[in-house]
Amino acid sequence: MQEIETSSPEETFQVGKRLGEEAQAGQVYTLVGDLGVGKTVLTQGVARGLGIAEPICSPTFTIVQVYEEGRLPFYHFDVYRIADVDEMEEIGYEDYFYGEGLCIIEWGNLISDILPEGCMEIRIEKDLEKGFDYRKITISESGEGRKA
Ligand code: ADP
Ligand code: MG
Repeated sequence: MQEIETSSPEETFQVGKRLGEEAQAGQVYTLVGDLGVGKTVLTQGVARGLGIAEPICSPTFTIVQVYEEGRLPFYHFDVYRIADVDEMEEIGYEDYFYGEGLCIIEWGNLISDILPEGCMEIRIEKDLEKGFDYRKITISESGEGRKA
């Protein structure tokens, strides 16, 4: 488990960028945290780390956005609005989860039933006592936090 503290969007972006640079084919990360905590900021860093130049926005209405121009295919999910895991079946999620790219799943905790084994979790939390721009980023194996 790894804990990183940031105090600006740029720093959170850099955390994502490093993940993108180090990412290996087939990795799946969930991104967990409240609205406005910085999930998309971190994801933009991941894309930059993979060498993707086009802008990343939240794929809220499409569930998944695919970027093919980087070092690895990048599959950016936002499952906040899905009502049922069936919607994941409809888009053929297994091709992405078990494929050769990097998956980042915003709100991945909402689909915990279908997450692959060995999936990693990136949790972002605020702590207003430490300032508006403070974020704690915890990277761990998915489910590790819940066991404790
Ligand atoms: P989410 O995708 O989690 O809903 P966003 O990434 O869209 O959130 O937005 C995060 C907001 O928080 C941005 O407006 C960003 O500028 C701001 N922010 C302030 N401090 C930080 C920080 N340390 N890390 C990330 N974002 C921050
Ligand atoms: Mg977002």
